[in-house]
Amino acid sequence: MAASRRPSDPSTNIPDYEYQDVNTKAFHIGSFRTEWLNRLKPSDYSFQVEDEDAFDAKFAQELGVNAETMMELKSVCNVESLRCDDAKVDPEVVPPDSTLQTLVQRKEKQDLKASKKFFKNRHELYADELERLTIGKNPELVDDMVPEGELILTINVFYPDVIEKFNFIRPHAALLMMGSHTLAELRDAICCVSDLQVCGEFSNNPDAAPSFLSKDHFKSAFFYFEGVFYNDMRFPECVDISRTTIEWAESHNFPPFSQAKMEDTRFVDLKVKVGFPYLYCHQGDCEHLIIITDIRLAHRSDCLDKKLYPLLTHKHRFTTQKCSVCHVFIGRWFTTGDRLAPSDPCLFCDKCFRMLHYDAQGNKLGEFQAFPFVDRGAFN
Ligand SMILES: [Zn+2]
Ligand SMILES: [Zn+2]
Repeated sequence: MAASRRPSDPSTNIPDYEYQDVNTKAFHIGSFRTEWLNRLKPSDYSFQVEDEDAFDAKFAQELGVNAETMMELKSVCNVESLRCDDAKVDPEVVPPDSTLQTLVQRKEKQDLKASKKFFKNRHELYADELERLTIGKNPELVDDMVPEGELILTINVFYPDVIEKFNFIRPHAALLMMGSHTLAELRDAICCVSDLQVCGEFSNNPDAAPSFLSKDHFKSAFFYFEGVFYNDMRFPECVDISRTTIEWAESHNFPPFSQAKMEDTRFVDLKVKVGFPYLYCHQGDCEHLIIITDIRLAHRSDCLDKKLYPLLTHKHRFTTQKCSVCHVFIGRWFTTGDRLAPSDPCLFCDKCFRMLHYDAQGNKLGEFQAFPFVDRGAFN
């Protein structure tokens, strides 16, 4: 694309590498879309499937052949007419002494497959399931159709930096979003365990715990893109948590930062670098890196049901921590100073916790402290 640009073209909305194969320079997403739409014919990004005859006619024209030759080519090059000379050869069996690299690798793959009970790990199985549910899906109502010429962004959300183990390895989740989505919609699509934590000691009244979810109490959050903090101000309880950073930067003579509301900002309004790490911060200090890895026009093979966006395409799965009594259910409580527990702290599922620590009337038995535990894997 860069090659076709005139040297005098001042447009900065055509992505260009800042660092080769790492990230682009900053560009305005909405203007980038306009650049594409100006250059393409509507038929190029239409979701309508071209009928075969029209396609053949166009193809023949491009090749510079007449319709008759085209028909002949089609029958000669048909996959059905591919034949092996020796009818006894089974294409699935790789000859044992082959030196052709493609065959050697194919043989290795076949051997590996034969040696395994399960062909796919759990990540691949979940990924397949996600894909099956959405790929090429059309909506039931015409109003729910993704418009032609809409942008699709691929967004990787990383684990918060407190989880060191996964910090540099792989994204926690990858989402597809449309250019018309707001940043608030991205925020709502990010599922992080720190939103679901419950802070406090509940041994005297374990039933009260669910009403203390962090996300219901601490609603402030921001995204940071290219010098602008986009704050969540949808609720009266929201405070501008970017203020501290902005004031600190001002007092230390850093270039000024500005602010906007995430609920008023659509992706098409943003200026970003593709491949560059940005920030999502919530619950005070739970910080996630956000990387936009791709921006493109929607294609007819995409999921075209608007309602299914933001569309999860990848999610890393955690193994869960099980109850130390039954070893079956996921831990929901941990206790400290607990005479009934085999360790301190000790993890219990809800059932074992209540059976062991309370009588039939719900009275607390003995002295201990109990804290709700939210397993990262419980929301896989
Ligand atoms: Zn988080
Ligand atoms: Zn249990």
